[in-house]
Amino acid sequence: MRTLSNLLAVPLLLVLLLGCCHASGSTNETAARQWFEQFNSDLAVQRNLAVEAGWNYAVNITDENSRKRVEAELKLTEFLKLKRTEMQQFAWRNFTDKNLTRLFSKSDDIGTSVANATMQELYSSVKTRLATFYNTAKVKDPRSGEMVPLEPNIVAAMADPDVSQLVKRDFWVGWRDESGKKMKNDYEEFVQLGNAMIREAGYANLAEYWQSWYEPTSDFEQTMEKLWTEFKPYYSLLHAYVRSKLRPHFGSEIFPLTNHLPAHILGNMWAQSWANVDHLTMPYPESWTVDITKEMLRKGWNSTTMFRVSEEFFASLGLGNMTDKFWAKTVMDRLPNVEMNCHASAWDFYTNEGDFRVKQCTSVTLPYLATTHHEMGHIQYFMQYEKQPVPFRDGANPGFHEAVGDTIELAVMTPEHLVKIGLLNSTIDSNEYYVNYMFLMALKKLAFIPFGYLIDKWRWSVFKGEVTPQQYNSAWWKLRCDLQGISSPVPRSEDDFDPGAKYHVPGNTPYIRYFVSHFLQFQFYEALCNKSGHTGPLYKCDFYQSKEAGDALKKMLSAGSSKHWEDTLEELTGTREVSAAPLIRYFGPLFDFLTEANKNSSEPLTWSSECPGDDWYTSTTAPPSTTAPPPQTTTSGSSGRLAGATWLQLSMAALLGALLSTLLTR
Ligand SMILES: [Zn+2]
Repeated sequence: MRTLSNLLAVPLLLVLLLGCCHASGSTNETAARQWFEQFNSDLAVQRNLAVEAGWNYAVNITDENSRKRVEAELKLTEFLKLKRTEMQQFAWRNFTDKNLTRLFSKSDDIGTSVANATMQELYSSVKTRLATFYNTAKVKDPRSGEMVPLEPNIVAAMADPDVSQLVKRDFWVGWRDESGKKMKNDYEEFVQLGNAMIREAGYANLAEYWQSWYEPTSDFEQTMEKLWTEFKPYYSLLHAYVRSKLRPHFGSEIFPLTNHLPAHILGNMWAQSWANVDHLTMPYPESWTVDITKEMLRKGWNSTTMFRVSEEFFASLGLGNMTDKFWAKTVMDRLPNVEMNCHASAWDFYTNEGDFRVKQCTSVTLPYLATTHHEMGHIQYFMQYEKQPVPFRDGANPGFHEAVGDTIELAVMTPEHLVKIGLLNSTIDSNEYYVNYMFLMALKKLAFIPFGYLIDKWRWSVFKGEVTPQQYNSAWWKLRCDLQGISSPVPRSEDDFDPGAKYHVPGNTPYIRYFVSHFLQFQFYEALCNKSGHTGPLYKCDFYQSKEAGDALKKMLSAGSSKHWEDTLEELTGTREVSAAPLIRYFGPLFDFLTEANKNSSEPLTWSSECPGDDWYTSTTAPPSTTAPPPQTTTSGSSGRLAGATWLQLSMAALLGALLSTLLTR
């Protein structure tokens, strides 16, 4: 019988025997250019076929479409492998034309596709198993006893201020029992296989491979750690303030002595956004009483209105309207009579005819207006770099791609802009009003940052073997407690596999891009505000209709990945580093408010780097209830609420989309 380790050892041995560098290839750059030109147009065709198949599956989930998608992806893999072998006739690393070297280098990077067919098959089947656990998980609703899916039921219950914390606790535990816990062994196999496959491409492990997309000029992990360290004191301000508001509401007994926030009461299954506890925490609840979502509905907005509003913002900068194909083929609403994947995503079809699409099941809410801008940011990137050769049709780095739409969102969500698009009658020029506004942005954007960091921080150590399968869950919780400052509502053990309860882990989707993007978007925003001639506080800047801002943005987007991102960033912002400084400037007045407010509360600014001990749990909490708890009686305090329960409650996928050129929401 062939064991897994046998299968892994053979290709590795081959790599060792054959050596790695093919130093003897030709340096004839004219021939290389000719070869590349043909490759480039073939690549566009091959990618197009795979993306089409992925799209067809995503908007109509049938066995046949699934089979066709797998076939198309295998064909693409075969093509990439063949061409990678052909490329070895050239000593492309030694070309004098560095642009040509870069094109070859990007074409050479085909990731785990380098591995043999047997491994591909095993890898694909373990990934499918992981995704299936996630996608088919159902949890018993403690109120009704019914089995319900994550979407929409559990997500809605976690977000609902009228659902008791006991019910939320049961959902929190139930979701992890039914998803992550079942996939631990498969995840271990996935890590082994993935690492073995990527070693054939010359990387030590998957962590090194994922980090290579950032072309790091210094230690990437250290750079990320430095960003986090710079930001952490500001996160602590928000953490202590939110704790001071939630403790009296939920009762001290569920707050551990370590000063962690209980993970299940923050309005989100992963505590990655705290926007749903806005009504419990708003600094000046009387000062903001407009419900933007209601206003959208009152004005008769629909999904098309939302897409048109987003398009109009980009167009006002001179970036061009969406293409005819975009409008003809985009799916804005859930399609009737088919199973479809509703996870919002943006797609590049690699034609040169403007075939770009969004797939999204829009609901008319302010959060979805933000999502629409996020996805359209991806489309604008696709449009602007369409003329680049295929290997350069990509973000300067993955964080750039995620940051574009969010940058626009920062301008669109300003009260000033909401007035312009008819969703607010007027703004109130008071400090309290804008502190509320920034606070809402903070619950969504700042609360997310440690979560955006820790997912891949955990995966890097897993891929590198620093965390063994016997430590998977404790290492995960060490980061959750230390970085995010949250604690589990019940004790966890190595029988659990809580990372698997987050879509991107079984979905094998890298995550650090969202962490990077949360800093980059404020850098982009500040730079575009400066170009537009904005004066006054940064948080009030709306660079709508600024051709100067538009030109600068266009220049950055149209470069795609043709240059190192540090050059691209420097051109727009004057700095070569991802920096927290613009974000800190943006939220300055909020941080002043939080500093003062925290002085008047008894909540400490810090929390323990260690999770609460088992003794704390045994002394305070009962095991998750298996019977329905009493009806909920807490108040929801709706007077100061903005846009219903969710400022931006992004929907998480029910199904995996095609991996290729599909940019997912976080
Ligand atoms: Zn995205």
